[in-house]
Amino acid sequence: MYIGAMRILVIEDEPAIVRTLERGLGAHGYTVMSADNGEDGVRLAASEPVDVVLLDIALPGLDGHQVLARLRAQRQDLPILMLTARDDVQNKVSALESGADDYLTKPFILEELVARIRAMTRRSDQVRSSALEAGDIKLDLLSRRCWRDETSIELSSREFALLEYFMRNPGRLLTRQQILSAIWEYDFDPESNVVDVYVRYLRRKIDKEGAPSRITTLRGMGYRFDPATGEPTTS
Ligand code: CA
Repeated sequence: MYIGAMRILVIEDEPAIVRTLERGLGAHGYTVMSADNGEDGVRLAASEPVDVVLLDIALPGLDGHQVLARLRAQRQDLPILMLTARDDVQNKVSALESGADDYLTKPFILEELVARIRAMTRRSDQVRSSALEAGDIKLDLLSRRCWRDETSIELSSREFALLEYFMRNPGRLLTRQQILSAIWEYDFDPESNVVDVYVRYLRRKIDKEGAPSRITTLRGMGYRFDPATGEPTTS
């Protein structure tokens, strides 16, 4: 279940990389916590509601492979991406064999990391939950269908993705830039008004006639999705 931002635990001993990740992933709407050694990382993963782990292989004390084994023993379903310092085929193979979901070689670009995180969390969503609800709106994430009350609403794949993103971040200001990066991934022009256009499409489809819109425009800032009747729940 997601209430608010997805939480990413970074287990990495290089402060410059940790800072870059905190800043970059924060700008994409993720909440980032970090540990600079494996023992603290394992402890945090056990005590905090962590959704994704980014795990460096070369760590002081427990190395990434040992940390991976402990994390897997705690939680089978936790998406874990390994960070490898160089193009080390042996490390990559052993990371995947010991249960990492994916790996990325440093240095990497942020957009690629974000795309990998999305791909991993989509997979784990399918295991954890296939439905998302906010008030009278319900999404089936497997069949990609949407209902308001019992009435089916036809959405294009972009409209569906946009509504899913709003419903995963209820009551939060989402800037146009965040929405662009979340839904349109690489191929967007930051000056584009595509977000405003799609919000308009979505309002036309999901809002009840005469009722206030579920999506509030915050002038000069972005949009906020109103869960309307209580917190969204996943089932
Ligand atoms: Ca390291």
